[in-house]
Amino acid sequence: MSGLPADLVTALRVFASAPRIVVASDFDGCLAPIVSHPADARPDPAAVAHLVRLAALPSTTTAIVSGRARADLAGLVEAAAIPGIGSVTLIGSHGSEFDDGFTTPITVEQRALLARVESALDEIASRFPGTMVETKPASAVLHVRNATDPAGADAALDEARRGPAALPGVHATEGKAVLELAVIETGKGHALDALRAQCRADAVCYLGDDVTDENAFRHLDAAADIGIKVGDGETVARYRVAGPELVGDVLATLLAARESIGSA
Ligand SMILES: [Mg+2]
Repeated sequence: MSGLPADLVTALRVFASAPRIVVASDFDGCLAPIVSHPADARPDPAAVAHLVRLAALPSTTTAIVSGRARADLAGLVEAAAIPGIGSVTLIGSHGSEFDDGFTTPITVEQRALLARVESALDEIASRFPGTMVETKPASAVLHVRNATDPAGADAALDEARRGPAALPGVHATEGKAVLELAVIETGKGHALDALRAQCRADAVCYLGDDVTDENAFRHLDAAADIGIKVGDGETVARYRVAGPELVGDVLATLLAARESIGSA
């Protein structure tokens, strides 16, 4: 019935039978199709509604783990106006911003370093039309998706890698047409570890489409957990679905399996 591979459906049903579970997904490219202007991204209401319904089940935690600043992510998710959305944990900035603020506070030195990184990126972006710099609480991001000249996009990224990314104390994360430079150590894998510990989860399912999600996939347990790569590209995840249009099916399958266990 669904467009999911049979082995994935079987794995999702086994996963859903674990006592305590965490179901987490990346936002852009998974719950929301990729768009050329990040502010225009809209989540699939059905997929988000499945996450909300899962969160209402016993011993089931759901989360959205994004590279976006948490406030930005919250705005986009809340715009979908799904009742009960507050029950889904939102984690921003690649796992460095949890619901209760920063897991790691930023120091005066890190703030000064961040200002230096921002001005270096601003200087680079000013020379390559269509590129832009986004600032977040503990990082600055160079976006080149809308560069007017593809060679300019590559050159801008290259300058950023050789310049501010190489400063001591800067942690660089490569994405699709983005380079994020953080002054604290970030990673979606750390976010999943924290969630797992917080919920004392027996199993974690994670969906992601980008390079930064590989860090999360690497933190999964080969036996109990499920990693699902959304779309093309190399991955260490065990399962794959063709694109974001199938993420709703994954969550619907999990929801049905988890509900049937509750009523059994
Ligand atoms: Mg993504």
